[in-house]
Amino acid sequence: MPKTPSLKDFRRIVVKVGSSLLVDSAAGRLNGDWLTSLAADIAGLHQEKRDLLVVSSGAIALGRAVLKLPAGPLKLEDSQAAAAVGQIALARSWSEVLGAHAITAGQVLVTLGDTEERRRYLNARSTIDKLLEWRAVPVINENDTVATSEIRYGDNDRLAARVATMVSADLLVLLSDVDGLYDKPPSAGDAKLVPVVARITPQIEAMAGASESQFARGGMLTKIEAGKIATTAGTHMVIASGRVPHPLQAIVQGAPCTWFLTPANPVTARKKWIAGSLEPRGALIIDAGAVKALR
Ligand code: GLU
Repeated sequence: MPKTPSLKDFRRIVVKVGSSLLVDSAAGRLNGDWLTSLAADIAGLHQEKRDLLVVSSGAIALGRAVLKLPAGPLKLEDSQAAAAVGQIALARSWSEVLGAHAITAGQVLVTLGDTEERRRYLNARSTIDKLLEWRAVPVINENDTVATSEIRYGDNDRLAARVATMVSADLLVLLSDVDGLYDKPPSAGDAKLVPVVARITPQIEAMAGASESQFARGGMLTKIEAGKIATTAGTHMVIASGRVPHPLQAIVQGAPCTWFLTPANPVTARKKWIAGSLEPRGALIIDAGAVKALR
């Protein structure tokens, strides 16, 4: 089995945080203590001269909580308006928890076109590069308030993967409510965690499909799609549990997780962009042939 890397091996890390970790929907508020512990982990890695970026979900969930909207599916305009309320509160919280470590946070809201149209991609990339040059931590989300159903990513796993490849991150961390990919549905008593995926094969996709019933949006299948985008473009990915305090420290200390490894030879930025393109409706095109043709 290939050796698993260590978080400390990487110099530019994107950390994606899911809504269910950030927002305590029952209590109708942010999980403040947990967020504070994550910010301390981010600060520790940042102080060791790494570049850190956050892709934070939670705008819609937090907006719902603040507005006390009833449970159940929301109409598009309701979730867009909820996101407007949630995003401002989310951004303030990130700014406060990172600010406590003397780290400046910069909010970046993107829509699908910002990663899929080359001119806008270059523009978004240079803004993020500038924030990193200033040692700020970009806190990125989809601009849910203006993204309509035809032009949205819809899930932050693939958004995070596109951002990670855009900025040539060498690692994408997906903090999730599960600790990784299991070889069988976790409900099967003998399901085992897969520690390393050297290549995403149809067999790996089948494992993700089998566990899909365990998750809502942003389930294991979108995480595997994110893994394809990341690893095709030269970025490693790790799925780990965010259900513990100090979730990044936990990975360093050997908590169970699943690593998706990328082949050693990184592809150039242009090839990355082409290789990981998303269709306008959010379907993924991973065109290994196109990458090869460009080599
Ligand atoms: N952008 C959405 C939000 O902030 C989250 C999407 C996702 O959960 O993947 O509410």
